Amino acid sequence: MIIVLKPGTSIETTKELIATIEAKGLKPVMLEGTQRNVIAVIGDERALQSINFESHPDIEKATPVLTPYKLVSREIYPANTVIDVGGVAVGGNNFVVIAGPCSVESYAQMTETAAAVREAGARLLRGGVFKPRSSPYAFQGLGVDGLGILSQVSREQSMPAFTEVMEVKDLDMVEEQGAAFQIGARNMKNTRLLTAVGQRKTPVLLKRGMAATIDDLLLAAEYILCEGNPNVILCERGISTFETSTRNTLDLNAIPVLKEKTHLPVIVDPSHGIGVRRWVTPMALAAAAAGADGIMVEVHNSPKDALSDGHQSLHPDEFVALMKALRPVVAAVGRELV
Ligand code: PEP
Ligand code: MN
Repeated sequence: MIIVLKPGTSIETTKELIATIEAKGLKPVMLEGTQRNVIAVIGDERALQSINFESHPDIEKATPVLTPYKLVSREIYPANTVIDVGGVAVGGNNFVVIAGPCSVESYAQMTETAAAVREAGARLLRGGVFKPRSSPYAFQGLGVDGLGILSQVSREQSMPAFTEVMEVKDLDMVEEQGAAFQIGARNMKNTRLLTAVGQRKTPVLLKRGMAATIDDLLLAAEYILCEGNPNVILCERGISTFETSTRNTLDLNAIPVLKEKTHLPVIVDPSHGIGVRRWVTPMALAAAAAGADGIMVEVHNSPKDALSDGHQSLHPDEFVALMKALRPVVAAVGRELV
């Protein structure tokens, strides 16, 4: 159930309401808005039947939420959520570009790549240091050393960065280095990890699992929001299908569906979505045309030498061309490239 408080409701009244909800064995989650505050009540709503919401002087409305996910639903927050990632606003009318290599490999590789994508118009950086590879013999990422490099380059280039987290124990370290969290496709259903990032305020880029439905993704996001972290960005990155011509099948359908169901920003990763360098740009443009709030693109200063995903990483000059092609598409759908 969603309880919308009237504007100007006092802190004391709000606390009283929260205490009443808790006393009935339910979990209240306070969502502070710019106009009004909302209390989302998690648990069996029948326990609240004795409260007369209609005649309550401080309650504007109380509505049951029928979807299995509650806090991520547009039924609760009709307006688009805008998330501040180190000073870059993701969501709303903005279209944001996140770019960088699949993996952090060295200071020189990161600096060269970050400077190139920044110059071309990317605002946010990406780079994995803990890599979930299919083979145990493949490059597993530079770990802590890579995190130091990412953090330094992120500061030097003024580009807030995302990096994948796979274990709860690494969260402190990633936060200390100022990076935002990425939860990868393989961990989208790792509920311990979702709960742990939910107990922080650092933004989370949550990627859709390769065998996850749209509702599975929304429920994974719900795990994070219901712990108190509202800063979740969803990412469509392709799903496994019977098609073998491409690495995954980028589910462009997910964009309008997610945009209708949730207020959270929706980013598209065409690099993993299609998995072949020369097809990344058309899918990036398609994502913008379909209403995504941004894209995440793998770019490497020298893709042939990349330690992971070089086959789908753009050369810096290809990224420049992508940004040039993107501008009119973003403008045509009434968005602003930030
Ligand atoms: C990545 O972003 O490099 C990555 C591993 O992505 P995904 O989790 O979508 O496979
Ligand atoms: Mn990758």
